[in-house]
Parts: sequence; C-alpha cells; structure tokens
Amino acid sequence: KSFKELGVVDHLIEACDSLGWKHPSKIQAEAIPHALEGKDLIGLAQTGSGKTGAFALPILQALLDAPQAFFACVLSPTRELAIQIAEQFEALGSSIGVKSAVLVGGVDHVQQSIALGKRPHIVVCLIIFVVYFVFFVLCILVLDEADRLLNEDFEKSLDEILNAIPRERRTYLFSATMTKKVQKLQRACLRNPVKIEA
Ligand code: AMP
Repeated sequence: KSFKELGVVDHLIEACDSLGWKHPSKIQAEAIPHALEGKDLIGLAQTGSGKTGAFALPILQALLDAPQAFFACVLSPTRELAIQIAEQFEALGSSIGVKSAVLVGGVDHVQQSIALGKRPHIVVCLIIFVVYFVFFVLCILVLDEADRLLNEDFEKSLDEILNAIPRERRTYLFSATMTKKVQKLQRACLRNPVKIEA
C-alpha cells in the first residue's frame, strides 16, 4: 500500500518523499490507519523497522487538523533515541510548521528551556528529564521502547508521569519485547489498543 492509501495527507507524503520514503514500512502500514482513526496502539517493533514514522506521521496529521502547543509527548529510555526521534519529527514536520523540542538534560539546559518557551507542538523527553507542565495538556503520549522504560531506575518517573497526564488522551506503546511488565503497563495506560507487529 502507498502512504496515500493509508490515509496520509499530501503535505506529509511530500515530506516522506523528501526523506526518500517511497513506501510505508510494514509497521507503518499497520499502524497508520488505526492511529488516524484515533485508536491506541501497541507496536511490537525494533529500531530499524520504521516505528518512529509509524507514530510520528499520525501525530503530525492530527496536529494539522488542530494545532496545539504540547500536543504530544514521546518518552524515550535513552538520550540518543530521543535525539533520533526528534530529528525525524523535525524532518517530517518542519515544512508544515510543526515545532518540536527535545529534552535530554545535560549541558544545554538553558537551550532546552528556551525551546520549551517557544511552546513546541511535540516534546521528546529522556524519561528521567521530566518537565511536568508538558504533561497537563497533552493529547497523545508515546512510550517508546517501553521494555526499557520499565527499567528500575525509571519506574518512579514513569509512575509520576502516568499520574500527571490527562485521562482523555491517546497512547501509543512501542516495545521490542512483550514482557510481563510491559503487559501490565499496557493494561494500566492504554484503552482498547490495536496490536500491530513489525
Ligand atoms: P526507526 O525504526 O524509526 O528508527 O527508523 C529507522 C530508519 O528507517 C530511519 O533512518 C528512517 O529514516 C528510515 N525509514 C523510516 N520509514 C521509512 C520508509 N517508509 N521508507 C524508507 N526508510 C524509512
């Protein structure tokens, strides 16, 4: 199937084109139609499968309909992954005016505060670098590499975040493995999710 057949709008198809994405990957083909219908998603997928596009494209498309600051937040277990995700949002979204910010702590703390001051549509966070006001209005939460987000060091942050975010939201959970802990997390924070696999 083409991106068009999945329901992706022309502006975003052009953005995919400019990245050399001619056809959707398997996980994208499975995820996008459900996500565009407003469903929650559980994706069993590894890095390299195109999973970032699978959640980024529906988020960007929803934003085009109703632009809003702090619309979506993506939680990442590592700084490198957070930066890669933010780069893909930037590459797909900048031509349609979508602003994103990446929060990974460290030396560029001031720059990150400035980035948040610009009221980005999308915030990608390293899970331990949480800025609570991001969570009060978000419409879509993405838990990326959820198996790694459930690492002991992050459990407290994750709990706090899940307690702070709006109940009325969409949630996309992606994980390389479906452990007991991931299943528990899934039951706690997703609503009638559609399961997809890369
Ligand atoms: P990910 O699994 O999201 O980390 O993506 C892995 C790599 O695949 C990234 O470099 C993406 O730019 C690339 N990619 C994602 N979707 C597609 C696609 N539909 N066609 C070609 N490359 C893609």
